[in-house]
Amino acid sequence: MIYPIVKFGNPVLEKPAEPVTVFDGELKKLVEDMFESMYEAKGVGLAAPQVGISKRLAVIDVTFKEDPNAKLVLVNPQVIHTEGKFRQTEGCLSIPEFREPVTRAKRVTIRAQDLHGQWFEKTGEDLLARAFLHETDHLNGKLYISHLSALKRDLIKRRIRKLIKAGEW
Ligand SMILES: [Zn+2]
Repeated sequence: MIYPIVKFGNPVLEKPAEPVTVFDGELKKLVEDMFESMYEAKGVGLAAPQVGISKRLAVIDVTFKEDPNAKLVLVNPQVIHTEGKFRQTEGCLSIPEFREPVTRAKRVTIRAQDLHGQWFEKTGEDLLARAFLHETDHLNGKLYISHLSALKRDLIKRRIRKLIKAGEW
């Protein structure tokens, strides 16, 4: 099933998500649906709040279907180590049409559970590091625009409010 992507303005995107405690078939199905929804939306990462489900769960595939082994499921992820700096243009499926450069860590290690509840650690660099931080931010109710200057962020919010008013969001 393909979920519509929740857009900026919906409060589910700005509240901390609830930990996942049950590792069952329902969770597995949700993850499958999230991958499908992410690919449909042409994204490389998707957090559960972006499909309106306030759970600490995210899927990532920075190769966009190129490498089946690159598919990552992060349940209850935590960032445990960051290193370096890397500035790159970033966007979000929940804030379509806008992209801005954001400085993030270059190398990031996360600790997360898999679909069976097993804890694992994984280190990513560049785009994967960025995805780890972007998706973990989502689960904490934080969007990438919070990393922009107040001026830039307000400008984007103003433009979005206009789009909402015009019924174009
Ligand atoms: Zn996002």
